[in-house]
Formats: sequence, structure tokens, C-alpha cells
Amino acid sequence: MPQSPTVAFIGLGIMGLPMAANLVSAGFTVRGYDRAPQQTDRFAGKGGTAASSLAEAVDGAGVVITMVPDSPDVDEAMFATGGVFDSAASGTLVIDMSTIRPDTARTVAEEGRIRGLRVLDAPVSGGETGAVEGVLSIMVGGDSADFHAAADVFAPLGTAVPVGPAGAGQTVKAANQLIVAGNIQLVAEALVFLEAHGVDTEAGLRVLNGGLAGSTVLTRKGEAMRHRRFEPGFRIGLHDKDMGIVTAAAREAGVPVPTGALVAQFIGALKAQGHGGLDHSALLALLDRIATEQK
Ligand code: NAD
Repeated sequence: MPQSPTVAFIGLGIMGLPMAANLVSAGFTVRGYDRAPQQTDRFAGKGGTAASSLAEAVDGAGVVITMVPDSPDVDEAMFATGGVFDSAASGTLVIDMSTIRPDTARTVAEEGRIRGLRVLDAPVSGGETGAVEGVLSIMVGGDSADFHAAADVFAPLGTAVPVGPAGAGQTVKAANQLIVAGNIQLVAEALVFLEAHGVDTEAGLRVLNGGLAGSTVLTRKGEAMRHRRFEPGFRIGLHDKDMGIVTAAAREAGVPVPTGALVAQFIGALKAQGHGGLDHSALLALLDRIATEQK
């Protein structure tokens, strides 16, 4: 890979926009494309180069990063006419950072390899704040040599850890989503419990966060949850997708995830009620409705 390859960044939403902006700040030439033109314009406002099509962004880039919502979106970005596989030169490093199904990631890697591309699955954790601050946790599946070739591109985004062959990054991310969903649900239950006992929840959550019950969920979302502020962040609709991934992958592997399956139902119910656009901490709103009539 050349010293400072041009990076094509596809998908400039809640996560992709600040990630691409961090690559610009780190000195990369970044050509951004989002199918929503206002997002591409916002990227140009942050010093990036706006591309008017995916093919224009990818043409001649040494690295292509995709950060789109779901498996079908990755399929489209990679395989559509004028997509990444049509437009990227042989040897290009293609890094999908979206959260998608592990089997889709494996297919993308294999199809890319057949076309001479080097494909990594590199989903992230850390949310919008982690993306803005460049401190994401990046779980990388793929060849070790390709992981090392991508090190300079990962550095401005966060900490990247190789976790195995193609698809392994997505499997680890699925486990991440299982833990986060369960953690939010129990923080919500603790909050409703504390409120029912008339406890000062600011002090209560603060002291809990200093002990074994402490968590990044409490740190990042505790205050907003106390005030019932559920603007995303990470949308219920996306977490619903992720719980589908983890429950299906667990079933494939023949392992039970009973608590995860239960929380998946709560997340699915929120989505069905039309709350797919709220932050996943809105699990608390569902609990409020179950627990009391007034809220
Ligand atoms: P988002 O919906 O805010 O952004 C996705 C963007 O991709 C949108 O702007 C959309 O227009 C664009 N897009 C979709 N298909 C495209 C295509 N074919 N070509 C070009 N642009 C396309 O979603 P997000 O919150 O940024 O999440 C992106 C991915 O990161 C998801 O897989 C999500 O699960 C994962 N993720 C999100 C968070 C979070 O806190 N938001 C945290 C970790 C991981």
C-alpha cells in the first residue's frame, strides 16, 4: 500500500461521517459518497472530497471503507453495477465496517478475493461518541497481512484488534450487541426499581458505576435514561437487526442465548410500536409502560 492512499468512504451517516472526518484530519485524502446527497454535502463541509457516485469515490482509491446500515446495503454497495467490486482496482483494500451477518461478510470476502481484492470485516463498538472522538473498538476479521496493511487507516478511528479469519469480526460484534442489549435492559430495570423506592437516582447510579455493576452503558447513557431522553445514538431499528443476527448465529451454532432472546423480543416490540428511530436505551420506555400506567 502506498504511504498515504486515497480512501473512498461509502456511507456517511451517524457513524460514517465523523469517522471519515477523522481520516481527513489525520491527513488522508478521503472521497466520500452517501446515497443521501445531504450527507455527502455535510462531509464536504468537513474538508472531505464529495463524490457524486460510489464508482467515482472508489475509482483509483487504495482503500475503500463501507459504513452502511445492514447486510443488503453492503451487498448492494459491493455487488451492484458501478459498485465497489466493479470499480476497485485489483489489490485494493476493502474494509466493511458496518455491522452485518457473519455469513454475508464471509461471502463478500470470498467474492472480493476472487476479484483480487483484499477484504476485511471490521465492525465497531463505541457509538457516535466513540466515532467522533476516534476511540472506537474495531473487531477485525480477515488475513493477518491485510490487517497490518490497514493499520494506518484504523489508527485515527480507534483501536483495532484482529480476531480471526473473514467473518470473525462480525461474530465478535454480534456478541458485543448481545452484551450491550442485556446491559441496557438491566440498567433500565435498576432505574425503575430505584425510582419505585424513592432513591436519589443520580447518586445511586453514580455509586453503582464505581463498583462491579459499573459499565460503559451506565457512563454513556445513565444520565439520559434518568431524564428519559432517547434521541439516538444507536437506533432501536439497528439493534433489532443486530439481535436478529446474534440469535440466528447462536441457533446455527446450537448454543442458547436465553436472556438475549428475551431482550431481542423487547427491542422488536419497540420497533413494532413505531419507535425504531429512538436510541436503544428506549428499552426503558417499554419497561415504564409495563411497570406503571402513568408514564
Ligand atoms: P446511519 O443510518 O446513520 O448511516 C448509514 C448511511 O449509509 C446513511 O446515510 C445511508 O444513506 C448510507 N447508505 C446506505 N446504503 C448505501 C449505499 N449503498 N451507498 C451509499 N450510501 C449508503 O447508520 P449508522 O448509525 O451510521 O450505522 C452504520 C453501521 O454502523 C450500521 O451497520 C450500524 O449497525 C453500525 N454501528 C452503529 C453504531 C451507532 O451508535 N450508530 C455503533 C456501532 C455500529
